[in-house]
Amino acid sequence: MDKIELIAGPCSAETREQMMKTATQLRAVGIRTLRAGLWKPRSHYGTFEGVGEKGLAWMEEIQQTLGMRVMTEVALPSHVEAALNAGLDMLWIGARTTVNPFMMHELAEALRGTDIPIWVKNPVSPDLELWIGAIERLQHTGVKRIGAIHRGFCLVDNAPYRNSPLWDQIKELRNRVPGIPVYCDPSHIAGKRELLLQICKEALSLKVDGLFIESHCCPQKALSDAAQQLTPEALSEMLRMLNIC
Ligand code: PEP
Ligand code: MN
Repeated sequence: MDKIELIAGPCSAETREQMMKTATQLRAVGIRTLRAGLWKPRSHYGTFEGVGEKGLAWMEEIQQTLGMRVMTEVALPSHVEAALNAGLDMLWIGARTTVNPFMMHELAEALRGTDIPIWVKNPVSPDLELWIGAIERLQHTGVKRIGAIHRGFCLVDNAPYRNSPLWDQIKELRNRVPGIPVYCDPSHIAGKRELLLQICKEALSLKVDGLFIESHCCPQKALSDAAQQLTPEALSEMLRMLNIC
């Protein structure tokens, strides 16, 4: 089987202890790149909106002590500036941002002249043109290292998923924007951990370049997306079943 790149980590950075514990456990099962949201786009006012810049120091500590690459979501130019100043290794743009050309314009401008890799999640709605348009805006300001992540779309009926995968869009994206790696985020497609294995199998059968998976040292206590996160141990077990770790 071709080599599958793996990125894993908690939906949100919550505390230094949660981050160090999760990262240490993930590193022990062979994960080299950690994801964690610092600025969280939540639907409801008053819910946990992330720890913000405070978490950058935890990510730097993980880089230094565990030798992992670290990445977070950026939605505003101020996020980009803070993440670049902290020396994060990669960034991703979330579904609620890809959907908005004005925000993509602002982010593309904030990234002008940098060479940090940027991962672009598909927009919330099943609109391939918005996804491609977001990538084009980054290309236009000179961003060279771009990847795409399929995290499912919000359709009228998503059952049994949280967000429905539209695998044909991966094929179409590859035809229209050749040469960029395409990953699958099974966690935000699934919404519940029981469905992850099957989604990963489908994604791998389409030869995605990598998987982007949420993993938390104590998922039942997670402050966001508790139902879809795997412990690092459960993640490792799933990767073994998929024959990729
Ligand atoms: C996330 O990765 O935690 C996230 C908020 O993702 P999405 O933009 O896919 O909802
Ligand atoms: Mn999440």
